[in-house]
Amino acid sequence: MQASSETPQLKTAKNDTKHLAFTNSHLTFKQHHMSADYHTHTPLCLHAEGTPQQYIDAAIAAGLTEYGISDHAPVKKSDGTEPFDDWRMLTSQIPEYIQWIADAKAHAADKITVRCGLECDWLPGCENWTEHLRTLHPWDYLIGSVHYITTGSDSSDSSDTWDFDNPAWLGKWAESDVEEAWSLYWQAYTDMADSGLYDVLGHPDLIKKFGYKPEGDLTRYYEPAIDAIATAGTIIEINTAGLHKPCAEMYPDTAFLELARDAGIDLIISSDAHHPSEVARDRNTAIATAKAAGYTHTTLINQGKRSYAPL
Ligand code: ZN
Ligand code: ZN
Ligand code: FE
Ligand code: FE
Repeated sequence: MQASSETPQLKTAKNDTKHLAFTNSHLTFKQHHMSADYHTHTPLCLHAEGTPQQYIDAAIAAGLTEYGISDHAPVKKSDGTEPFDDWRMLTSQIPEYIQWIADAKAHAADKITVRCGLECDWLPGCENWTEHLRTLHPWDYLIGSVHYITTGSDSSDSSDTWDFDNPAWLGKWAESDVEEAWSLYWQAYTDMADSGLYDVLGHPDLIKKFGYKPEGDLTRYYEPAIDAIATAGTIIEINTAGLHKPCAEMYPDTAFLELARDAGIDLIISSDAHHPSEVARDRNTAIATAKAAGYTHTTLINQGKRSYAPL
């Protein structure tokens, strides 16, 4: 069960078969197929259901070899108080979260490897808080996500700050300037990548969740983000949850994924499960999409260290 630690995501054209053959020849392939779902939630975020045992059983039934827990991390308002919003754990619940992970590990025993992390929100000025979160437990990884866009300079509790993916504010989309929302989102995503604070960047084009997209070629939004991610060396995910949202597409779209592959950016495949029935959901669709974009491997993460498993 030895995974290769050499990066397989070489910066080659995806149909450069001669080079790919060379790439494959020096990778160590494993006896048993390894696959992981690292972006999943727990009821501590107030919008997920299920016990640790149910999630682990679902992961085993799906044939995964690794299951990673990455619930919505605490955020404090600028005055230091909580709750920041109504869809995350409180700072005081971190011990409860770590116990939930311990219960999952106990149930998993030697049947499946359990990894743990947090899904952290990128907000302007969050750097010190994110560094603090990293010290609270020996996490395997932190996922960075943009769920908020802001037009103000102090995002932490200003009325200009908007969790654009929250169904509660769906009406706001109809009266928003879509290009402005997209520009704010991608600037935030690029800033998040530039920070280098995260192991993985979540659902790259979440801004499309409710189906609002600017006209024309969207690569103008993607390219600065791709450059920043490639420079920082951060992993991205295919997040299959989008298939079940109004946009009816995985995050990110094919054009983003192809740019990421050509830039040599590492990839994981995630369900973003908020219910045990969603663990590893649409995984085969995501694998086919990753392969079509030229990916040959996904990434395994253990205490921040990467290895690679063939798709
Ligand atoms: Zn959530
Ligand atoms: Zn742990
Ligand atoms: Fe998210
Ligand atoms: Fe999530």
